[in-house]
Amino acid sequence: MSVRDLARPEVRAFQPYVSARSESPVAAAVMLNANESPWPHAWHPALNRYPEPQPRALCERLADHAGVAPDQVLLGRGSDEAIDLLLRGFCRPGLDAVVVCPPTFGMYAVSARLQGADVIEVPLAGARFEPDPKAILAACSPAVKIVFLCSPNNPTGNSVPLDAVEHVADALRDRALVIVDEAYVEFASTPSAAGRLTQHDNLGVLRTLSKAWGLAGARVGALLANREIVDLLRSIMAPYPLPVPSIEAALTAFEPEGRRRMREHVDILVEEREHLRKALQGAPGVREILPSQANFLTVRFEAVDAVRGRLADHGIVVRDITRYPGLADALRISIGTPEQNRRLLDVLAATRNGSAA
Ligand SMILES: *Cc1c(COP(=O)(O)O)cnc(C)c1O
Repeated sequence: MSVRDLARPEVRAFQPYVSARSESPVAAAVMLNANESPWPHAWHPALNRYPEPQPRALCERLADHAGVAPDQVLLGRGSDEAIDLLLRGFCRPGLDAVVVCPPTFGMYAVSARLQGADVIEVPLAGARFEPDPKAILAACSPAVKIVFLCSPNNPTGNSVPLDAVEHVADALRDRALVIVDEAYVEFASTPSAAGRLTQHDNLGVLRTLSKAWGLAGARVGALLANREIVDLLRSIMAPYPLPVPSIEAALTAFEPEGRRRMREHVDILVEEREHLRKALQGAPGVREILPSQANFLTVRFEAVDAVRGRLADHGIVVRDITRYPGLADALRISIGTPEQNRRLLDVLAATRNGSAA
């Protein structure tokens, strides 16, 4: 059995749109095949032309960075697009389902609902919010086509152990995809699942340039997966997902200077994260700080609304995650620059239980 057989039958048989750029990928001296304007654009000379559908240089750089082959990379408009494509490709409306492990990133369930797929919740277990492979597998009825694992998890910050990922992927071979969202992997000390793609044809890894790489505004993300999955999703994807300026911005990120900057920023943020943790530990009004492998800390407060209000009064916005199960007293605080983190600590220090000045 091929992992393609898990996809919707109508998607397996899909006749994709053949764009001008995919039909003639090589630039000729005279390009008269795409009804583009023949004049270079004033703001950027390449803007009059459609971009490469899957820019080869960027696929190669990202593949090299992630330790996979270029044909295992599907680039898109942020990892959000990959999540949406996975749902469209593998889940039939009204029939199929996905498994998510709350509290977790909301887009898996949003894309599933939009596609008309059932969302089966298998909550992260215990005070440490660990995924429970046994419970996940028990929830995987034949309708389940995708299991989403987020590692490090947003908003709890902990990583999913690689052996748990592999155990679930093995057990679901020929039954469902296992997608590991590694949006924060650059901040983690745990290994990526990308190195395991060749061992598991039903495994996929989501990556993004939105966090550690500092390119949230460029909207560049990727699904790393085996070629059959990549090719299948390419066939249902919009013809030109990445704008020319985004491709160029992403390419500069992978130049030596861009990589150096990324690593330097990650080092600072990880150091600041641990500094913030120490400063908040045992501070008045702080109940608990969840362990974090990401660029944020999730913190439980005695008076969470008062703390959030107080921070807002001082122009500091943090993420209210009190609607998540098990986090009714928590805020998710992104790690900022050392100066921004100092301001945060100053306001919190002056906010004893959210009441005093
Ligand atoms: C921020 C984040 C993303 C990134 O999404 P993009 O569309 O690539 O910006 C993906 N997954 C999780 C869990 C995130 O927190």
